[in-house]
Amino acid sequence: MSTAVDQSKRSLLRGKRSAVSFPVRPPWSQTEPQFIDLCSRCGDCLPNCETGILVKGDGGFPTVDFSRGECTFCQHCVSACKTGALSASITPPWQLKAQINPLCLTHQQVVCRSCADQCETRAIRFTPVSGEVAKPLITADLCTGCGACFDVCPTRAIQLTNTTSQGDSLHAGI
Ligand code: SF4
Ligand code: SF4
Ligand code: SF4
Repeated sequence: MSTAVDQSKRSLLRGKRSAVSFPVRPPWSQTEPQFIDLCSRCGDCLPNCETGILVKGDGGFPTVDFSRGECTFCQHCVSACKTGALSASITPPWQLKAQINPLCLTHQQVVCRSCADQCETRAIRFTPVSGEVAKPLITADLCTGCGACFDVCPTRAIQLTNTTSQGDSLHAGI
């Protein structure tokens, strides 16, 4: 690896340590420092993603853009990665969980179930409250972080948040 590339990777990590939000890496990624060290930025995972959600982010490293679609966990990105930056031995594939913020239309008493309609695992349920529009609740254990609910929300009320011990907030697709 060249000195120039080393310097570029060090700069990226320095920037990330002082930032509060991290880009969403592909599923089955190593921890962020390991990922930055191992990823050669070859871009081979991008065209192999069956839903086209992998894009080049800062420094040329792959990131996930959920405004383009959801992750189907097809694992084609992992198969394409020859450096070990992505590894099928990592379980679960990532720690992302969906969260819903007060921009949700139901907080303005507007009926909307667009997110739940997209959720295959039925992680989003609506509990009726007397005299109010039912609000969505996410069961974290059922959420795979697939991102299918992200782009259908008309008010961008859904965030995908990393639930690792660092608690880093991953704002996807924006
Ligand atoms: S698992 Fe499949 S759908 Fe998900 S990011 Fe990788 S290639 Fe794309
Ligand atoms: S295939 Fe692997 S090494 Fe190449 S850009 Fe994707 S994650 Fe990085
Ligand atoms: S990220 Fe996927 S599994 Fe989680 S609530 Fe949204 S649609 Fe359901």
